[in-house]
Amino acid sequence: MRVRRSFLFVWCGLSTWLSLALWSFAVTETEMAASSLRYRGGVHNAFSKRALKPKQLQTLLKSLRAHSGWPQLDFDADGFLVCPDEAQFNSGSAAARKLLSAAMDAPMAFDLESHTNTANVAFARLDVPAHFRSMASGRQINVYPVQFDFADFAALRGETEVVAAFDIGLVFMHELAHGVWSLRDALSDADALGECERYINQIRRELNLPERQHYAARTRSSGVSVAGGVAHYAELLFRRNDARKPAHYYLQWDAQRVGRT
Ligand SMILES: [Zn+2]
Repeated sequence: MRVRRSFLFVWCGLSTWLSLALWSFAVTETEMAASSLRYRGGVHNAFSKRALKPKQLQTLLKSLRAHSGWPQLDFDADGFLVCPDEAQFNSGSAAARKLLSAAMDAPMAFDLESHTNTANVAFARLDVPAHFRSMASGRQINVYPVQFDFADFAALRGETEVVAAFDIGLVFMHELAHGVWSLRDALSDADALGECERYINQIRRELNLPERQHYAARTRSSGVSVAGGVAHYAELLFRRNDARKPAHYYLQWDAQRVGRT
């Protein structure tokens, strides 16, 4: 998912400027202290109170290590995702390594934010970038918030293979592909998948996981809810493209609680 809006934020670096009403963008003391790192591109845990907690970072890191095959992939002392030796990997997906490498070397920054149990984020989304510019040095950077709702992943229902094909690392890489390469989601009925998810399917193929067959989740009724209303669940179809053993998988979740992709 990608949010389509745009606005400009000028990082002034001085308290005088910070006192101005700059849209609704909140600048915290933590962000101010981290201002010297603000202009470094790559994947970074947010400087704000939205930053992922250590356990959430480890959950994401474990998935990315498995998908990339990079044992050295880690968050450094400043909170940036790094891989000291990209030539050393154990299996994993070459397409995942290509995308993560591009993201870590990107001129823009991707800030990881936790939005757990919020209605406006289904699994994860890439929010509009904020543009920072230092009045002192002239440095500037676009910063994309990558927003996660960790609780949504616990709501997934399906066979082990299909839940693994939609884990936090793969969903995160979907958002990165939007930001790093400007790949787009499905735009019409003629292309049910979209170029972004088509790339993620290449990663799934290299990991021997089922591939997603369409971008938009289908919503179905599951009868009467406990509260007496009509309950709905969302569903995505996946398929393993193995000529010897083709198989379909259904990934489902509570549409009202989580939302749709
Ligand atoms: Zn998307």
